[in-house]
Amino acid sequence: MEINVYELIKMLAIFFLGLSIGSFLNVIIYRMPREMSIVYPPSTCPECKNRIKWYDNIPVISYIFLKGKCRFCKTPISVRYPTVEFITGVSALVSYLKFGFTVDFIFAFYFLASMIALSFIDWDFKIIPDEINYLGLLSGLIYAGIKSFQLKDFNPLINSFLGAVVGAGFLFLIFYFYLKVRKIEGLGLGDVKLLAFVGSYVGWFGALFTIFFGSVLGLVASLYFMKKEKADDFMKLEIPFGPFLALAGVIYLFFGEKIYNFYFGGF
Ligand SMILES: [Zn+2]
Repeated sequence: MEINVYELIKMLAIFFLGLSIGSFLNVIIYRMPREMSIVYPPSTCPECKNRIKWYDNIPVISYIFLKGKCRFCKTPISVRYPTVEFITGVSALVSYLKFGFTVDFIFAFYFLASMIALSFIDWDFKIIPDEINYLGLLSGLIYAGIKSFQLKDFNPLINSFLGAVVGAGFLFLIFYFYLKVRKIEGLGLGDVKLLAFVGSYVGWFGALFTIFFGSVLGLVASLYFMKKEKADDFMKLEIPFGPFLALAGVIYLFFGEKIYNFYFGGF
């Protein structure tokens, strides 16, 4: 891609759009698991309850200007807020660089934004809100429907449907095995629903890849935290599975073709 000024301005605009959606994701991450309204009331400081002014609510930039503290009570603001905004900004940018201004860009970014929100919620609360999973599944099927319509080919829609069923089905079997055989909840039903969402985007093979690679990532992270926390059993650490499944799903959405060809030895 040739870089010119026009292209650079476009990329900056997309990055800033991503930052502001990241700011909205912060609201979702904080309020959705607490069953608070997403739209009302406007943001306040959780400490002194002062309403946050619009100029103190500019993604990343306000955090830097306020030196990471509330304007009124000087309580430190978690570095996670600008981090979520930044990751979301980068997500918008890489979606654009991969897909250009297309329908794929919109859905890829929607997928990434959902994965960011549910990963942080799962990390904090060990739950994945149904709203995110169901809307995600619906969006994945709509996306596949659009592709099928454009290509005049039913395959994208069939693969999307299969992805949801295979992904959720496979994970449900593992869930059931843990529950019945080992008498523990090894993973949550939220993870099962998440795989329906991810599968609807990445298809049946992508769903299996997501479960396999997500497990590898989760295992590596568990070993790391076991060593760090000096724990003897990683089940006790209660590390959620969702963020690792989400990351594996994102990797497949962006590099799926390469992974598929590598596995099946195609060209
Ligand atoms: Zn305050």
